Amino acid sequence: SADDILRVIIKCINFAAIKHKNQRRKDPEQTPYINHPIGVAKILTEEGNVQDVNIIQAALLHDTVEDTETSFEEIEDEFGSTVCQIVKEVTDDKTLPKAERKRLQIEHAPASSPGAKLVKLADKLYNLRDLERVPPQGWSAERVQEYFNWAQKLLMASEAQTKI
Ligand code: NDP
Ligand code: ZN
Repeated sequence: SADDILRVIIKCINFAAIKHKNQRRKDPEQTPYINHPIGVAKILTEEGNVQDVNIIQAALLHDTVEDTETSFEEIEDEFGSTVCQIVKEVTDDKTLPKAERKRLQIEHAPASSPGAKLVKLADKLYNLRDLERVPPQGWSAERVQEYFNWAQKLLMASEAQTKI
């Protein structure tokens, strides 16, 4: 019901806000990190016309395991296995070096589930808009361009098996 959807979305926002409470974005204003997952979810609802509540929940939670002390068990217990599965698909293996993680995102993209692709692409779109708005401190124009190039590769790899 509409009540349950509202409850579960607010529960996700609250969970993510607590988990990310000490984190900031890399922009010069050091925007609170929570602005990012909320913005990614908004891209999916407003621009992607996504109506699947599990996908919106996964968008709100997408950086909790990768960037905070959150386990997949916690996500599964609180939000169920469907949401947890999508978050798993969009979470990098933190034991690997950054460059390898970026390479693996492209390698894994074609076979990812539609929900994971939507979250990943909205995530990249948000970050590209952020970089265009203002680059993080210490980022050269070349580094920003490199991120755009990598994001384009990820987009093309994602399109390989799913028409989006
Ligand atoms: P990243 O390229 O991983 O940093 C971008 C990530 O930071 C985004 O994916 C996003 O991830 C997050 N983020 C936080 N705030 C912002 C913001 N305001 N705008 C955009 N993204 C933001 O950089 P790392 O510091 O992790 O460096 C690793 C990689 O960078 C290496 O693989 C290397 O190739 C490259 N590099 C290039 C250099 C160069 O000069 N060309 C120099 C050094 C590294 P999320 O969605 O998870 O928040
Ligand atoms: Zn993200």
